[in-house]
Amino acid sequence: MPIYIVLLGPPGAGKGTQAQIISKTFDLPHISSGAIFRDNLKRKTQLGMLAKEYMDRGELVPDDVTNSMIRNRLEQEDCAKGALLDGYPRTPAQAQALSDMLQEMHAKVNAVPNIKVSEEVLIERLAGRWTCRAEGHVYHEKYNPPRTPGICDLDGSELYQRDDDKAETVKNRIQVYFQQTMPLIDYYRQAGNLIEVDGAKSIDQVGEELIAALRKAVL
Ligand code: ADP
Ligand code: ADP
Repeated sequence: MPIYIVLLGPPGAGKGTQAQIISKTFDLPHISSGAIFRDNLKRKTQLGMLAKEYMDRGELVPDDVTNSMIRNRLEQEDCAKGALLDGYPRTPAQAQALSDMLQEMHAKVNAVPNIKVSEEVLIERLAGRWTCRAEGHVYHEKYNPPRTPGICDLDGSELYQRDDDKAETVKNRIQVYFQQTMPLIDYYRQAGNLIEVDGAKSIDQVGEELIAALRKAVL
């Protein structure tokens, strides 16, 4: 049976960081909606140009655009064994769309870790985040520094600071999270899928707790 895991948590909680670990452990493709938008932006596709306007303001890209992008990705062959979704769904309408897509594939969401972190910590994490140009691997200048400053350990590409990690945009993104994404916590709790994770601990500790909880939930 395929396994679908949805990672919930505010911007900067550590979803991308933990996704790198979970994806390896469970051998699942890591699907980050933000990374797909950024890749389209880099290639200047129509989707990328459309998404840019929203991303620059720290707002969400419209649901219909985001849903069809994810549907295309989930239909690719490597997702036959399931997927690890990071940053999607982010609205109740997206959660419903995902449920419909998976139902068509005779599958469902199996587990939803919710990574909880205070707002203060989020702001510090986003301000120190460095992202790799090639694959989107994430570092933190203080908590997870690369071996050589400015260079990705994994693929040698340049590290950059995302435009939307600037203080002004971050405030709006956190606001958007509270208004549009937080309702999903209750949605998945009611569905019996929610796993609460304390995201304030170190990257390794959060990783260990997540893997242990996921093993129980999906294996
Ligand atoms: P998200 O995908 O949820 O936006 P990231 O995984 O990109 O979050 O993490 C945001 C920033 O915080 C990155 O710079 C990352 O290196 C750092 N980070 C992630 N998890 C932790 C942690 N447990 N402790 C300290 N820093 C962390
Ligand atoms: P973070 O994990 O740090 O919040 P992401 O990389 O997930 O950042 O998202 C960056 C931006 O991409 C968001 O602010 C939003 O504009 C857009 N985006 C990503 N995922 C979605 C989604 N599921 N729905 C709508 N917009 C999205």
